[in-house]
Amino acid sequence: QPPRARKPDWIRVKAPGGTAFAETKALMRRLNLATVCEEAACPNIGECWTKKHATVMILGDTCTRACAFCNVKTGMPKAVDLSEPQHVADAAAELGLEHIVVTSVDRDDLPDGGASQFVKVIEALRRTTPKTTIEILTPDFRNKADAAVESIVAARPDVYNHNLETVPRLYPTIRPGARYYASLRLLEQVKRLDPSIFTKSGMMMGLGETRLEVHQVMDDMRSAGIDFLTLGQYLQPTPRHAKVDEFVTPQTFGAYAAIARAKGFLLVASSPLTRSSYHAGDDFAKLRTA
Ligand code: SF4
Ligand code: SF4
Repeated sequence: QPPRARKPDWIRVKAPGGTAFAETKALMRRLNLATVCEEAACPNIGECWTKKHATVMILGDTCTRACAFCNVKTGMPKAVDLSEPQHVADAAAELGLEHIVVTSVDRDDLPDGGASQFVKVIEALRRTTPKTTIEILTPDFRNKADAAVESIVAARPDVYNHNLETVPRLYPTIRPGARYYASLRLLEQVKRLDPSIFTKSGMMMGLGETRLEVHQVMDDMRSAGIDFLTLGQYLQPTPRHAKVDEFVTPQTFGAYAAIARAKGFLLVASSPLTRSSYHAGDDFAKLRTA
């Protein structure tokens, strides 16, 4: 294997540690919850967990897909854990979360793609921590999307997030199990069914996309009524994953942010270390009090 490209200075992050970090980790283990922070090897884990922000990953830690950018393991997932919805709510209560982000692996093996588990998690959170705002980040549910989205929208999360991840030209290599227009349509459907739910999507930069392609995706997102946008640098989790084509500079991220705001997104997070859930609660709280 050739050596991996050296990360530029703006990517360096502090090593995780400290009491709050250890407590967050212990809580997740005790409640048998997986987190995308760990499974996706997120570079912000030190910062987020020290502040007791974590993104819970429901429906297990094993995905039925194998996207070229993603560190989550692929295989035959375990049976759905019926105690998981209440455990997510207990974690939100113990961490004192004002905002929670809940995501899942892709479960093409389940008849409903896992939609009912999202609904149960939202219901458990509303019962246990009614003040916590809820952001869900769902898979595309493939050919079960219509029914899945309908049931989740009826449970009324505050924010519905689904990431387009990259520009359509790169889907066959980067997101081979997914279809760009199906993902776009899913978000459009959420907005059509309940315009009071904020919709959100994001992309990884540095996979070989051009500036013009990124602008085009922003236009597609706005046409689908998407409210919030996140853009962050793709980092290769292991040598087996897709290579980094480019380390996009903080200046370019800033330029993308300005363009996105001009196109009408309500919230834009665009920086090398931005992830779908990075500072999601803080940004959403600011919007709600604005
Ligand atoms: Fe977890 Fe999101 Fe923070 Fe990464 S940015 S550590 S995934 S909460
Ligand atoms: Fe990772 Fe999601 Fe792709 Fe599964 S579907 S491999 S969790 S990005």
